[in-house]
Amino acid sequence: MVQKLNVESFNLDHTKVKAPYIRLAGKMKGLNGDEVYKYDLRFKQPNKEHMDMPAIHSLEHLMAEISRNYSDKIVDISPMGCQTGYYLSVINHFSYEDIIQLVENILEDVLKATEVPGCNEVQCGWAASHSLEGAKTLAKEMLDHKDEWREVF
Ligand code: ZN
Repeated sequence: MVQKLNVESFNLDHTKVKAPYIRLAGKMKGLNGDEVYKYDLRFKQPNKEHMDMPAIHSLEHLMAEISRNYSDKIVDISPMGCQTGYYLSVINHFSYEDIIQLVENILEDVLKATEVPGCNEVQCGWAASHSLEGAKTLAKEMLDHKDEWREVF
């Protein structure tokens, strides 16, 4: 029996999930009724595959920038340390189907990108570690499996 931990996704059995998927991983409500929803965008099968650093990093920059073209409710998109996916947090954005559509729109735009935004030493903490082509490959692979995004197990 695995000990129950504070973080919701640590209590998810990562050997049972089937990537790729998009899963609501948490909700928080503020004092004024505002709600923050956190999603797991799982790109790669845990402990079987992972994204390499230049590609996951460039896709992070691209998704962070492009997502704000579609929504003013993005709190954050950030990579998982295990390099198998991203966390997406939104505020007052309640529809799972809208999130699915948002991610699809973002990734379609990634495929059209001609450069990685902010990949220089002024705007990024590791400007040498980027790959536009790698990011596009990840986006394409994820889009190729979009029929599976709603299925976690
Ligand atoms: Zn960076």
